[in-house]
Amino acid sequence: MKAMVLKKTGPIEENPLELQDLPTPQPGPHQIRVKISACGVCHTELDEIEGRLQPKLPVIPGHQIVGTVEALGHGANKFKLGDRAGIAWINSACGKCDFCKHGNENLCSEFQGTGCDANGGYAEYTVVQEDFAYPIPERLSDPQGAPLLCAGAIGYRALRLTNLRDGQILGLFGFGASAHIVIQIVKYQYPNSKVFVFTRPGQTKHQSLAKQLGADWIGATGDNPPGSLNCAIDFTPAWKPIIEAMRVLEKGGRLVVNAIRKEKKDLDYVLNLDYPTHLWLEKELKTVANITRRDVEEFLPLAAEIPITPKVQKFGLEQANEALILLKQGKMQGAGVLIMSYQ
Ligand SMILES: [Zn+2]
Ligand SMILES: [Zn+2]
Repeated sequence: MKAMVLKKTGPIEENPLELQDLPTPQPGPHQIRVKISACGVCHTELDEIEGRLQPKLPVIPGHQIVGTVEALGHGANKFKLGDRAGIAWINSACGKCDFCKHGNENLCSEFQGTGCDANGGYAEYTVVQEDFAYPIPERLSDPQGAPLLCAGAIGYRALRLTNLRDGQILGLFGFGASAHIVIQIVKYQYPNSKVFVFTRPGQTKHQSLAKQLGADWIGATGDNPPGSLNCAIDFTPAWKPIIEAMRVLEKGGRLVVNAIRKEKKDLDYVLNLDYPTHLWLEKELKTVANITRRDVEEFLPLAAEIPITPKVQKFGLEQANEALILLKQGKMQGAGVLIMSYQ
C-alpha cells in the first residue's frame, strides 16, 4: 500500500513525510482492516512531525479516518464487510485503570494515539481494534465524516467542558476546523446563546466563514467584545489568546484550552498575566486532553442530525506535506482532508 511515513521529526517546510510502499497490514484478533477513503489533517500532526510530541517512529500519521471495512480479524463481529467505519485519535486504552473505569479513558496512562503511537490514516489501509471504530451515519459523506472524528469530536468535548448554558455568551479563539464545527453545535443546542469569534488580525477567510455560520461578533484576539464571556474555548497554538480570553471572561467564567501543545514563539505574552485582571473572581482555566469513545459515539449522530457539513479542502495523499504547511500558515479554509483516490 501507499503511505506517507514520518521517519524523523523536523520542520514541516522541509517535507518530512515520505511516500513509501509498505505491506498491507493484516487484522489481528478482534481487529478490522479499513480501506481508507478520506483522512483529515490535524494540527496535532504538526506537533508530532515538528517534535513537540514524541511519536513512535517510524509512524504513519493521521487520526481522522473514514473508509470501508474490508477484512475482519478472528472474532471481530461489530462490523460487516463493506460497512463504513471511522477511526479517531483514541486508538486504545487499558480498560482496567481507575481512569478507564470511570469514563476518563482519555487520561489512561496507556492511552495510544492513532497516527502517533500506532499507525494512522495517511495511507491506503489501516487496522484497528473493532471497539475503537465507529459506524459513520449515512447522511455524512466520507470527506465530511473525516474532520468530525477529531476536530468535531474534540470540539464537542471542549464545548461540554465549558458548561455553557443556553443564553450565555461563548467566546471562540481561533476559527479553524474545530471552531467552525463548534459554532454549528452551539447554534443548534443553545439557540439563545451568543458566539463571539476572535481570530488573528487579517484572517479574512476565517472571519467570513464565522460570519456565514452565524457568529454574533467577530474581532481580533486582544479586542474588547460587546459583552463579557461566560465561557470560552481557545483552539490556537499561541499563548496570547489564553491571556486575552481570561481578561474578557465574566466572573466565574471558564476557559477551556484545546491544544495538545503550545508553540514557544509568543510565550513572553504570559508575562502580562495579572492576578486581578485575569484570574481573580473565580475564573477557571481548564485544558482538554484526548477524547473518549463516548465523545465520538455521541457526537457523530448529533452531527448527522443537525446536520453539520464541514467545509472541506481536499488534497491527494501525496500532498500531505503541502496540506500541513497550509494548516501551519493558517491558510486552510475549514478542514483539510486527504482523499486517497484524489488525482
Ligand atoms: Zn486531531
Ligand atoms: Zn486505562
